[in-house]
Amino acid sequence: MALVAIDALAEKPFRDEVLDLIRRDVVEGWGAEEILTWAVQKFHPRLTISASFGAPEGLVLIDMLHQIDPTTRVFVLDTGRLHPATYDLIDRVRDRYGKSIDVVFPEAAEVQDFVRKQGVNAFYESIEQRKQCCQIRKVLPMRRHLADVDAYVTGLRRDQNANRAGTRKLALDPSVGGIVKLAPLADWSHERVLEYVGRHQLPLNRLHREGYPSVGCEPCTRAIGPGDDPRAGRWWWENDGVKECGLHVNDEAEGSGI
Ligand code: SF4
Repeated sequence: MALVAIDALAEKPFRDEVLDLIRRDVVEGWGAEEILTWAVQKFHPRLTISASFGAPEGLVLIDMLHQIDPTTRVFVLDTGRLHPATYDLIDRVRDRYGKSIDVVFPEAAEVQDFVRKQGVNAFYESIEQRKQCCQIRKVLPMRRHLADVDAYVTGLRRDQNANRAGTRKLALDPSVGGIVKLAPLADWSHERVLEYVGRHQLPLNRLHREGYPSVGCEPCTRAIGPGDDPRAGRWWWENDGVKECGLHVNDEAEGSGI
């Protein structure tokens, strides 16, 4: 496999170690806490967690990282269209851990321009417009925020959907300059996540109790029924089968860094 997009690590003392770990696939055998402990030692304070506050995985990671080092950073993308329940959870987590949460906003001018030309709810009109909205409100703000770190942690799990089946626990993310992307829960099941949540009595988004397995933007998420695909409530009016907003490119297709 060819080396791609490692510019962000070019001058970093840990670059060779990270590349060696990826090449030898060593981290796949590590547990979640082991990965996070290594990440804190290696990258903190240029390490952050990407949490949506709309799925339990982010809460598990925040809790684990807080035990390792309470000064670790967390960010959430505020698209301006989140559910009130999600905003409530952000403040509950802030209170529980005594932690500042980096709430990351889109560029006002980009949102204004999009809304003025295409309408407030243009995402219902076509997949192209939906992706444009996600690009402006999620993808670009995340890229700008991650320009300030060397590594970030996500709650991606392989069994969430087919698009995430190839998720590696340690990879480089070519979409953000080749920084380190960690998915410590990649091999966890949904049941294991819920077991951790229950054992540690973590706060959760209250919409999970109302049929929302994952909670995204308010106009683009709805409750699902018994037996539905867990992502069926996201962009439910689309039929192309890819229920992603562009934050997590398919690593196999796009190149995971090596
Ligand atoms: Fe826009 Fe919907 Fe994407 Fe949110 S989920 S950024 S409202 S298209």
